[in-house]
Amino acid sequence: MSSMYQYRRRLTREVVFGNIALGGYQPIRVESMTNTHTMDTAATVGQCRRLYDAGCEIIRLTVPTEKDAENLRHIREQLRRDRIDIPLVADIHFSARAALKAVEFVENIRINPGNYATSQKFTNNEYSEDDYLKEIERVRLEFAPLVEKARQYGVSMRIGTNHGSLSDRVVSRYGNSPEGMVEAALEFARMSEDMGYYETLFSMKSSNVRVMIQAYRLLAQKADAELRYAYPLHLGVTEAGDGDEGRVKSAMGIGALLEDGLGDTIRVSLTEDPVNEVAVGFALVKKYNDFHLVKGDKGALPLKHVIESRNRKSQETQLSSQELPPFNPFCYQRRTASGILLAGMVVGGDNLPRVETEVHAQLSESHAVFEEVMQRLAPEKPQDSIRSEFVSVRVNSDEELDALDALLGKLGDAGRFVVASTGDAALFARLLDKVSKARFDIVEGERLGEEFLQLLGGEGHAVVELCFIHNGAGNCVPAEVLAHFAKKSRSRGVQQLFFSVISKEPVFVYRRLVQLFNAHALDYPVVVRFKNEASDRLETLIESSVQAGTLFCDGIGDMLAFHTSLSLDDELHLAFNILQGARVRMSKTEFISCPGCGRTYFELEKATAAIKQRTVHLKGLKIGIMGCIVNGPGEMADADFGYVGAGKNRISLYVGRECVEENILEEDAVDRLINLIKERGKWVDPPCCLP
Ligand code: SF4
Repeated sequence: MSSMYQYRRRLTREVVFGNIALGGYQPIRVESMTNTHTMDTAATVGQCRRLYDAGCEIIRLTVPTEKDAENLRHIREQLRRDRIDIPLVADIHFSARAALKAVEFVENIRINPGNYATSQKFTNNEYSEDDYLKEIERVRLEFAPLVEKARQYGVSMRIGTNHGSLSDRVVSRYGNSPEGMVEAALEFARMSEDMGYYETLFSMKSSNVRVMIQAYRLLAQKADAELRYAYPLHLGVTEAGDGDEGRVKSAMGIGALLEDGLGDTIRVSLTEDPVNEVAVGFALVKKYNDFHLVKGDKGALPLKHVIESRNRKSQETQLSSQELPPFNPFCYQRRTASGILLAGMVVGGDNLPRVETEVHAQLSESHAVFEEVMQRLAPEKPQDSIRSEFVSVRVNSDEELDALDALLGKLGDAGRFVVASTGDAALFARLLDKVSKARFDIVEGERLGEEFLQLLGGEGHAVVELCFIHNGAGNCVPAEVLAHFAKKSRSRGVQQLFFSVISKEPVFVYRRLVQLFNAHALDYPVVVRFKNEASDRLETLIESSVQAGTLFCDGIGDMLAFHTSLSLDDELHLAFNILQGARVRMSKTEFISCPGCGRTYFELEKATAAIKQRTVHLKGLKIGIMGCIVNGPGEMADADFGYVGAGKNRISLYVGRECVEENILEEDAVDRLINLIKERGKWVDPPCCLP
């Protein structure tokens, strides 16, 4: 495993993709996938052109049948005639015949080990050791011709596992788990290596971001320990959905792994025009690709060099105890923290992570600041709706301290949700009697003596948050300084303390902080602070999802505090989308919707919008909206209800994994889904005027 405390890309074998390669020192590539029918040559070529013009580096096409595979010839010819030499990938499920034909016309072939030459009927059958081995042998015999042909045509292969789409055999032994996903992929990789074929890459997708992160990490660890080469990884969150939610989920899952140094090519899969995926993909990989340029990496190295360097890499990845992560990277467990009572709410412990945002208006602008605080707190809304539970104001002077008094007076009871921050020790001392939480910002190099320490433990005053403003390089200093205060405070019996950091690299810095806290048995709650005043909305959305999302997915964080230049509404939705994506705080229905592809025969985007509009208030419910009956039921994984394409303008409805209404007309299907939710007792009326 790469370091969890600094960015270091996992060095992999370089794998060919036609006239480009990926892995090794190649840039992290950005892929997309057509959602046209592959038999519709004109539409597919048109969409490929648009993707190519948008900068997409690799295009995948669905290949459900041998006929579709045959038609790849025409698609390829037309693209090449137009000098569009972008590598093409054939996406195969079930059909070995389609794979064997498609391999003649593409640069890469993706197979799903859950359904390639293997059964997937959700039978719950038991497999004896003997049956298990016989089944693997049978799969090997069916898989071998594809490997041979791929080698003959110089085509690479992605072994692409999907959560919820594992073979019955693997599920019988490992369950529908990250372990099962990894084993499913390794079985095919072992067979490939036995046949002397090494042009392999892996993916481990899931719509559950936490499962997806864990599966990729586990795969990297197990595959690197066992296989001959470190093979590249294609990253993606499957069925991420559309709009901001889809972008946030993808950025969280893909970004968490990029931070770990994993990933050589990515696809952001959205239930939208696939062209939209490309810009999000490039925004996501930019920082990591730039890192290599800044660090002076040499660009593409010859394959021989990468192969030779593999042994060296293996030794490097033996992590010292200092480098071990302060959480289990393969299994979610929330960090244990004490709970602190704050304005009538307990923050920390096993309570939902709370949300704090920062007021943009200055305290001196008395009317504006009052209006903004009221808008953010929205006290008229129910407790658990999308609103800021705490708002933070900045105090820099005596005058602003007076203005804070005036503001609190005007706010009345709502004033208890106002928290204040300062970097001035004298002002901080005076804030303690005014607000429920007072944050002190520690700047690197600042010396704070005994007098300051005594302020932390005062009876009956504000709860204190100590925040380190980290502008320097490295990630040890903030953790050491904060742990020093935490130890001193603990030795004096001070309980009411939060800790936080404002940093350009929050993931690494917070991990160091938690590592030190764990080492000294300090269970103070942690506020994950994200501050980014970039004016680019997509950049803010991606960076906050990567940084804050990664921490919450790994169980770190008791409160999410946001300070961005986004509008209030945007900022709050982003904060709650991140918590929902990490599944630590559900504030609305979870939609698991696939991007659609050539297997989709109904208006997926329209149906998704209609279902969302009518069910978005069903907090905690998971609804799968899937393009096809072939993969949909498996890949919507743990959805409570499923709306699945079953043929031309036909839909089947699911409750869990059970199909309860088959082949109903598309025009009736949304109403029937709502009825089904009602019949199963999962419906609540929307707060206002939804049907
Ligand atoms: S589930 Fe969606 S993306 Fe996957 S194969 Fe079916 S239609 Fe295509």
